[in-house]
Amino acid sequence: MDNDFRLRMTFWGVRGSTPTPQIEHLNYGGNTCCIEIRLPNNEVFIFDAGSGVRDLGDSLLEEFANQKLDLKVFLTHFHWDHIQGIPFFQPLYQPENKVIFHSVAFPEGLHRRSGSKNGLEETLRIQMAHPYFPISLESLAAKKEFKEIDPEPIKFGKLTITPFPLNHPGQTYGYRIESEGAVIVYATDLEHGHAKLDKVLRDVSQNADLLIYDSQFTPEDYKKHKGWGHSTWLEACRAAGDAQVKQLALFHHFPSYDDGRFYEIVQLARSKFENTIGAQEGWSLTL
Ligand SMILES: [Zn+2]
Ligand SMILES: [Zn+2]
Repeated sequence: MDNDFRLRMTFWGVRGSTPTPQIEHLNYGGNTCCIEIRLPNNEVFIFDAGSGVRDLGDSLLEEFANQKLDLKVFLTHFHWDHIQGIPFFQPLYQPENKVIFHSVAFPEGLHRRSGSKNGLEETLRIQMAHPYFPISLESLAAKKEFKEIDPEPIKFGKLTITPFPLNHPGQTYGYRIESEGAVIVYATDLEHGHAKLDKVLRDVSQNADLLIYDSQFTPEDYKKHKGWGHSTWLEACRAAGDAQVKQLALFHHFPSYDDGRFYEIVQLARSKFENTIGAQEGWSLTL
């Protein structure tokens, strides 16, 4: 039976760069990037597979015990904080499950000397190759597919996922996620100040229900990290205001900011864009 909503988004990992399991970070959360999009028919789409995807995998196995899982994973890029949870994603270890990885960004030609079909598969394979990890990606029992996709809208029933480019070292793509008029924009990792891509972000975010935006730094700390590929809470508020989104989630929290510091940042952001939250593990939005 279908649920009575169009889309549900849940944060499983909100931290940028590296997990921060120390206790003073755990109100907002210490796991790296992972969000879940759930459709009313219980189809699950996963965006990024940082350390937060481990917990999501365990939760899915519990919720759908004795059922086959058919999961679609969309990656923004391959920095560790977006893929490091894959070796610990338990649905990959069970033969009845299917996991389809999708990415627009992929290293060209990387697979030429290995048996991998493409750069997406090869990048994920290398992460688990000897001597980095004891179990190889190819030996995991689930059916796996690796789809290198074009930056064009992809449809899954009523759901449309539209990749769009972000200003970040290496190729990186955000995703506009829309179903029956409900719109969530997942925009991490990005650095503001690239006129063309700043405009693309505003265009795809126009009137969105939720904009999830890389707000890694305060404007002061940003000055020391120019060119690192991240933005600020102030730029997040500007983008949210320009695009007239309904709600803004500050995301990809700097590992050095503890809960107290980040709480202050959220209050500052609310003075510029009222309906702002600090992304918090476990927080859900149902549309
Ligand atoms: Zn990142
Ligand atoms: Zn990155």
